[in-house]
Amino acid sequence: MNRLIALILILISPMQASALQIFACEPEWGSLARELAGDAAQITTATTAYQDPHRLEAKPSLIAAVRRADLLICTGADLEIGWLPLLLRRSGNTAIKPGSPGNLLAADFVRRIELPDRIDRGEGDIHPQGNPHIHLNPHNVERVAKALADRLRQIDPAGSSGYQAREKEFLARWQEATATWEDRAMNLAGLRLVSHHRGFSYLADWLHLDILADIEPKPGIPATAAHLATLVEALGPNPPAGIVRTPYTDSKASLWLSEKLGVPAMQLPYTVGGSDRATDLFGLFDDTLTQLEALRR
Ligand SMILES: [Zn+2]
Repeated sequence: MNRLIALILILISPMQASALQIFACEPEWGSLARELAGDAAQITTATTAYQDPHRLEAKPSLIAAVRRADLLICTGADLEIGWLPLLLRRSGNTAIKPGSPGNLLAADFVRRIELPDRIDRGEGDIHPQGNPHIHLNPHNVERVAKALADRLRQIDPAGSSGYQAREKEFLARWQEATATWEDRAMNLAGLRLVSHHRGFSYLADWLHLDILADIEPKPGIPATAAHLATLVEALGPNPPAGIVRTPYTDSKASLWLSEKLGVPAMQLPYTVGGSDRATDLFGLFDDTLTQLEALRR
Protein backbone atom coordinates (compact mmCIF):
# COMPACT_ATOMS: atom_id res chain seq x y z
CA MET A 1 0.00 0.00 0.00
CA ASN A 2 2.74 2.40 0.98
CA ARG A 3 4.56 1.59 -2.23
CA LEU A 4 1.42 2.32 -4.19
CA ILE A 5 1.00 5.71 -2.52
CA ALA A 6 4.65 6.50 -3.12
CA LEU A 7 4.26 5.61 -6.78
CA ILE A 8 1.18 7.81 -7.11
CA LEU A 9 3.02 10.69 -5.45
CA ILE A 10 5.92 10.29 -7.83
CA LEU A 11 3.53 10.34 -10.77
CA ILE A 12 1.50 13.31 -9.62
CA SER A 13 3.87 15.63 -7.82
CA PRO A 14 6.24 16.55 -10.66
CA MET A 15 3.27 17.75 -12.70
CA GLN A 16 2.06 20.01 -9.95
CA ALA A 17 5.31 21.17 -8.44
CA SER A 18 7.41 21.66 -11.53
CA ALA A 19 5.10 23.70 -13.77
CA LEU A 20 7.32 26.63 -14.60
CA GLN A 21 5.69 29.94 -13.72
CA ILE A 22 6.28 32.66 -16.30
CA PHE A 23 5.20 36.27 -15.99
CA ALA A 24 5.07 38.17 -19.29
CA CYS A 25 4.44 41.90 -19.38
CA GLU A 26 3.05 42.05 -22.92
CA PRO A 27 1.04 39.61 -25.09
CA GLU A 28 3.84 39.21 -27.66
CA TRP A 29 6.20 37.83 -24.98
CA GLY A 30 3.49 35.71 -23.38
CA SER A 31 2.88 34.19 -26.80
CA LEU A 32 6.59 33.64 -27.42
CA ALA A 33 6.93 31.99 -24.00
CA ARG A 34 4.06 29.65 -24.93
CA GLU A 35 5.84 28.70 -28.17
CA LEU A 36 9.11 27.93 -26.37
CA ALA A 37 7.98 26.57 -23.01
CA GLY A 38 4.93 24.66 -24.20
CA ASP A 39 1.78 23.78 -22.35
CA ALA A 40 3.59 22.65 -19.22
CA ALA A 41 4.46 26.23 -18.23
CA GLN A 42 1.94 28.46 -16.54
CA ILE A 43 2.04 31.87 -18.16
CA THR A 44 0.48 35.05 -16.83
CA THR A 45 0.38 37.97 -19.23
CA ALA A 46 -0.01 41.35 -17.53
CA THR A 47 -1.50 43.34 -20.42
CA THR A 48 -3.76 42.69 -23.38
CA ALA A 49 -3.66 44.30 -26.82
CA TYR A 50 -6.33 46.66 -25.57
CA GLN A 51 -4.18 48.02 -22.73
CA ASP A 52 -1.44 50.61 -23.03
CA PRO A 53 1.75 48.79 -21.96
CA HIS A 54 3.19 52.11 -20.77
CA ARG A 55 0.53 52.37 -18.10
CA LEU A 56 -0.89 49.68 -15.88
CA GLU A 57 -2.43 49.45 -12.45
CA ALA A 58 -0.49 47.23 -10.02
CA LYS A 59 -3.48 45.06 -9.11
CA PRO A 60 -3.22 42.42 -6.32
CA SER A 61 -3.70 39.60 -8.87
CA LEU A 62 -0.64 40.83 -10.78
CA ILE A 63 1.44 41.14 -7.62
CA ALA A 64 0.51 37.54 -6.77
CA ALA A 65 1.53 36.37 -10.26
CA VAL A 66 4.90 38.16 -9.98
CA ARG A 67 5.41 36.64 -6.52
CA ARG A 68 5.12 33.05 -7.81
CA ALA A 69 7.05 33.62 -11.06
CA ASP A 70 10.24 31.70 -11.85
CA LEU A 71 10.87 33.81 -14.94
CA LEU A 72 9.78 37.27 -15.99
CA ILE A 73 9.89 38.40 -19.60
CA CYS A 74 9.16 42.04 -20.32
CA THR A 75 10.19 44.53 -22.98
CA GLY A 76 12.37 46.82 -20.87
CA ALA A 77 13.82 50.02 -22.36
CA ASP A 78 11.59 51.84 -19.86
CA LEU A 79 8.34 50.65 -21.48
CA GLU A 80 7.08 49.36 -18.13
CA ILE A 81 8.88 51.91 -15.93
CA GLY A 82 5.54 53.24 -14.68
CA TRP A 83 4.37 49.96 -13.15
CA LEU A 84 6.83 47.05 -13.22
CA PRO A 85 9.28 48.30 -10.53
CA LEU A 86 6.32 48.71 -8.18
CA LEU A 87 5.05 45.19 -8.93
CA LEU A 88 8.51 43.72 -8.36
CA ARG A 89 8.93 45.60 -5.10
CA ARG A 90 5.54 44.55 -3.78
CA SER A 91 6.00 40.93 -4.83
CA GLY A 92 9.21 40.53 -2.79
CA ASN A 93 10.33 37.88 -5.32
CA THR A 94 14.12 38.19 -5.52
CA ALA A 95 14.47 35.41 -8.13
CA ILE A 96 13.18 37.72 -10.84
CA LYS A 97 14.67 41.02 -9.73
CA PRO A 98 16.59 43.04 -12.35
CA GLY A 99 19.95 41.50 -13.16
CA SER A 100 19.03 37.98 -12.04
CA PRO A 101 18.59 35.05 -14.47
CA GLY A 102 14.85 35.11 -13.86
CA ASN A 103 14.55 38.62 -15.27
CA LEU A 104 14.69 38.84 -19.06
CA LEU A 105 14.24 42.15 -20.87
CA ALA A 106 13.65 41.69 -24.58
CA ALA A 107 14.94 45.12 -25.61
CA ASP A 108 18.42 44.20 -24.32
CA PHE A 109 18.79 41.78 -27.23
CA VAL A 110 17.95 44.03 -30.18
CA ARG A 111 19.20 47.20 -31.80
CA ARG A 112 16.96 49.97 -30.59
CA ILE A 113 15.91 52.77 -32.92
CA GLU A 114 14.85 56.36 -32.30
CA LEU A 115 17.39 56.90 -29.54
CA PRO A 116 17.01 60.51 -28.44
CA ASP A 117 19.98 62.86 -28.66
CA ARG A 118 19.24 63.96 -25.14
CA ILE A 119 16.91 62.59 -22.49
CA ASP A 120 14.37 65.14 -21.45
CA ARG A 121 11.49 63.71 -19.51
CA GLY A 122 10.42 67.26 -18.77
CA GLU A 123 8.99 67.33 -22.26
CA GLY A 124 7.01 64.20 -21.38
CA ASP A 125 8.66 61.90 -23.92
CA ILE A 126 7.97 58.36 -22.73
CA HIS A 127 10.65 56.79 -24.97
CA PRO A 128 13.80 58.13 -23.27
CA GLN A 129 15.74 54.87 -23.94
CA GLY A 130 14.83 54.77 -27.62
CA ASN A 131 11.72 53.17 -29.05
CA PRO A 132 10.71 50.20 -26.85
CA HIS A 133 8.03 48.74 -29.22
CA ILE A 134 10.54 46.29 -30.67
CA HIS A 135 8.38 43.27 -31.45
CA LEU A 136 6.97 44.28 -34.86
CA ASN A 137 10.18 43.28 -36.59
CA PRO A 138 10.32 39.44 -36.83
CA HIS A 139 14.13 39.51 -36.70
CA ASN A 140 13.85 41.06 -33.26
CA VAL A 141 11.38 38.36 -32.22
CA GLU A 142 13.93 35.77 -33.38
CA ARG A 143 16.71 37.31 -31.27
CA VAL A 144 14.45 37.42 -28.23
CA ALA A 145 13.33 33.82 -28.87
CA LYS A 146 16.95 32.63 -28.73
CA ALA A 147 17.58 34.59 -25.53
CA LEU A 148 14.40 33.26 -23.96
CA ALA A 149 15.21 29.66 -24.88
CA ASP A 150 18.68 30.06 -23.30
CA ARG A 151 17.11 31.46 -20.17
CA LEU A 152 14.54 28.66 -19.93
CA ARG A 153 17.33 26.08 -20.06
CA GLN A 154 19.27 27.97 -17.40
CA ILE A 155 16.33 28.28 -15.02
CA ASP A 156 14.87 24.83 -15.58
CA PRO A 157 17.76 22.51 -16.57
CA ALA A 158 15.56 19.45 -16.15
CA GLY A 159 13.47 20.57 -19.11
CA SER A 160 16.47 21.51 -21.23
CA SER A 161 16.07 19.00 -24.06
CA GLY A 162 12.39 19.89 -24.42
CA TYR A 163 13.18 23.60 -24.67
CA GLN A 164 15.88 22.87 -27.20
CA ALA A 165 13.49 20.90 -29.41
CA ARG A 166 10.81 23.59 -29.17
CA GLU A 167 13.28 26.35 -29.98
CA LYS A 168 14.51 24.50 -33.06
CA GLU A 169 10.99 23.84 -34.27
CA PHE A 170 9.83 27.42 -33.61
CA LEU A 171 12.83 29.04 -35.29
CA ALA A 172 12.40 26.89 -38.40
CA ARG A 173 8.75 27.88 -38.73
CA TRP A 174 9.53 31.52 -37.87
CA GLN A 175 12.34 31.91 -40.39
CA GLU A 176 10.18 30.39 -43.12
CA ALA A 177 7.29 32.71 -42.24
CA THR A 178 9.62 35.73 -42.13
CA ALA A 179 10.85 34.98 -45.65
CA THR A 180 7.24 34.75 -46.86
CA TRP A 181 6.35 38.05 -45.18
CA GLU A 182 9.37 39.73 -46.73
CA ASP A 183 8.34 38.49 -50.19
CA ARG A 184 4.85 39.84 -49.69
CA ALA A 185 6.11 43.13 -48.30
CA MET A 186 8.11 44.08 -51.36
CA ASN A 187 4.92 45.71 -52.64
CA LEU A 188 4.64 47.71 -49.41
CA ALA A 189 7.99 49.50 -49.55
CA GLY A 190 7.49 53.24 -49.53
CA LEU A 191 3.90 53.00 -48.26
CA ARG A 192 3.20 56.40 -46.70
CA LEU A 193 1.49 56.35 -43.30
CA VAL A 194 0.68 58.49 -40.32
CA SER A 195 0.73 56.69 -36.97
CA HIS A 196 -0.87 57.67 -33.72
CA HIS A 197 1.87 56.60 -31.30
CA ARG A 198 5.31 55.36 -32.35
CA GLY A 199 4.16 51.77 -31.91
CA PHE A 200 4.94 50.78 -35.51
CA SER A 201 8.44 52.17 -35.99
CA TYR A 202 10.14 48.75 -36.09
CA LEU A 203 7.55 47.49 -38.57
CA ALA A 204 8.26 50.53 -40.74
CA ASP A 205 12.02 50.05 -40.36
CA TRP A 206 11.74 46.40 -41.38
CA LEU A 207 9.37 46.87 -44.34
CA HIS A 208 10.66 50.28 -45.48
CA LEU A 209 7.34 51.95 -44.82
CA ASP A 210 7.39 55.72 -44.68
CA ILE A 211 5.83 57.05 -41.47
CA LEU A 212 5.44 60.71 -42.26
CA ALA A 213 4.20 61.97 -38.91
CA ASP A 214 2.64 61.00 -35.59
CA ILE A 215 -0.64 62.20 -34.18
CA GLU A 216 1.07 62.50 -30.80
CA PRO A 217 3.35 65.54 -30.86
CA LYS A 218 5.79 63.47 -28.73
CA PRO A 219 5.52 59.85 -27.59
CA GLY A 220 2.94 59.79 -24.81
CA ILE A 221 1.74 63.37 -25.28
CA PRO A 222 -1.91 63.56 -26.44
CA ALA A 223 -2.67 65.28 -29.73
CA THR A 224 -3.56 68.94 -29.54
CA ALA A 225 -5.82 70.85 -31.91
CA ALA A 226 -2.83 72.95 -32.99
CA HIS A 227 -0.71 69.86 -33.80
CA LEU A 228 -3.57 68.25 -35.75
CA ALA A 229 -4.08 71.46 -37.72
CA THR A 230 -0.37 71.45 -38.59
CA LEU A 231 -0.69 67.86 -39.83
CA VAL A 232 -3.66 68.72 -42.04
CA GLU A 233 -1.75 71.63 -43.54
CA ALA A 234 1.46 69.66 -44.05
CA LEU A 235 -0.11 66.46 -45.39
CA GLY A 236 -3.13 67.84 -47.23
CA PRO A 237 -1.41 68.42 -50.59
CA ASN A 238 0.04 64.88 -50.67
CA PRO A 239 -1.92 62.74 -48.20
CA PRO A 240 -0.67 59.42 -46.76
CA ALA A 241 -2.21 56.07 -47.78
CA GLY A 242 -3.67 55.70 -44.32
CA ILE A 243 -3.51 56.42 -40.61
CA VAL A 244 -2.66 53.54 -38.29
CA ARG A 245 -3.22 53.06 -34.59
CA THR A 246 -3.05 50.30 -32.00
CA PRO A 247 -6.15 48.65 -30.45
CA TYR A 248 -5.46 50.46 -27.17
CA THR A 249 -5.39 53.91 -28.77
CA ASP A 250 -8.44 56.16 -28.62
CA SER A 251 -9.71 56.44 -32.19
CA LYS A 252 -10.97 60.03 -32.04
CA ALA A 253 -7.91 61.92 -33.32
CA SER A 254 -7.23 59.29 -36.02
CA LEU A 255 -10.80 59.44 -37.29
CA TRP A 256 -10.78 63.24 -37.31
CA LEU A 257 -7.57 63.38 -39.32
CA SER A 258 -8.83 60.61 -41.61
CA GLU A 259 -11.87 62.68 -42.48
CA LYS A 260 -9.86 65.87 -43.03
CA LEU A 261 -7.34 64.14 -45.31
CA GLY A 262 -9.84 61.80 -46.98
CA VAL A 263 -7.78 58.67 -46.25
CA PRO A 264 -8.64 55.53 -44.23
CA ALA A 265 -7.88 55.21 -40.53
CA MET A 266 -6.93 51.69 -39.58
CA GLN A 267 -6.58 49.78 -36.34
CA LEU A 268 -3.74 47.31 -36.78
CA PRO A 269 -3.53 44.36 -34.35
CA TYR A 270 -0.19 45.65 -32.94
CA THR A 271 0.20 42.57 -30.74
CA VAL A 272 -1.20 39.09 -30.17
CA GLY A 273 -4.93 39.33 -29.44
CA GLY A 274 -5.27 42.68 -31.22
CA SER A 275 -7.50 41.25 -33.95
CA ASP A 276 -9.48 38.08 -34.58
CA ARG A 277 -6.70 36.71 -36.77
CA ALA A 278 -3.81 37.70 -34.49
CA THR A 279 -4.20 34.66 -32.25
CA ASP A 280 -0.45 34.06 -32.08
CA LEU A 281 2.75 35.75 -33.32
CA PHE A 282 2.32 34.25 -36.80
CA GLY A 283 -1.25 35.52 -37.04
CA LEU A 284 -0.11 38.93 -35.82
CA PHE A 285 2.27 39.41 -38.74
CA ASP A 286 -0.05 37.76 -41.28
CA ASP A 287 -2.91 40.06 -40.35
CA THR A 288 -0.76 43.20 -40.16
CA LEU A 289 0.52 42.58 -43.70
CA THR A 290 -2.96 41.81 -45.02
CA GLN A 291 -4.28 45.07 -43.62
CA LEU A 292 -1.39 47.10 -45.03
CA GLU A 293 -1.83 45.44 -48.42
CA ALA A 294 -5.41 46.72 -48.45
CA LEU A 295 -4.04 50.28 -48.17
CA ARG A 296 -1.74 49.71 -51.12
CA ARG A 297 -4.62 49.00 -53.48
ZN1 LIG B 1 5.47 53.91 -26.66
